[in-house]
Amino acid sequence: MFVSMKDILNDARNGGYAIGAFNIVNYITSKAVIDASEKLGVPVILQTSVKTVKQIGTDEFIDFLRPLADKAGVGVCVHLDHCTDVDFAKKCIDAGWSSIMYDGSKLSLEENIKNTNEVKKYIGNRDISLEGEIGSIVGVEDDIVVNHDEACYAKAEDCKKYLDSTNVDALAPAIGTAHGVYKGEIKLNYDLFKEIDSISPVPLVLHGGTGLSDEMFSKLIDLRAM
Ligand SMILES: [Zn+2]
Repeated sequence: MFVSMKDILNDARNGGYAIGAFNIVNYITSKAVIDASEKLGVPVILQTSVKTVKQIGTDEFIDFLRPLADKAGVGVCVHLDHCTDVDFAKKCIDAGWSSIMYDGSKLSLEENIKNTNEVKKYIGNRDISLEGEIGSIVGVEDDIVVNHDEACYAKAEDCKKYLDSTNVDALAPAIGTAHGVYKGEIKLNYDLFKEIDSISPVPLVLHGGTGLSDEMFSKLIDLRAM
């Protein structure tokens, strides 16, 4: 079943569980992720990076992703991850993605809000969800390289302002996680995650699984109930 991210994330938030997002790069990896999700009976987010989408082509990509999602016995969200380009986000919205992440985390908060709202307005009343990001996730994602400094922790007041000024369906606050191949130490700020969750009307998204243990994931998921 082809779904948007809000279709499955709100249930997850209410039910106290998380949904996995996995980067897929072609038909075989997409099929493998969906097969595994069906076996487990859980919804899943098929994550496409901007670089991969550009390599394959938006129409060519969605042409095989959409039927796979439609046929799946579980909810499958087709998500564009870390898109820093408003025009490319619009292109994927038109092509048929069910979820878009607009990543303006490297911009000023005002510019991030402005661009996020432009993408949201473009989505209009289509059933496509929008995710935003505050703070930078260290490591490497496509061509986005972020080094460890203060920027890797979102400020709660920035998240509040962003959430008050945009109508996003999910928020990714940086709490010290890392993307890709990252050799630095991971210092998660659990209190920050809990604080932002308490002020957020929408589900939070955790980016960057590099170096995280199963226990760390479980602890972050359980914070909501604690
Ligand atoms: Zn990410």
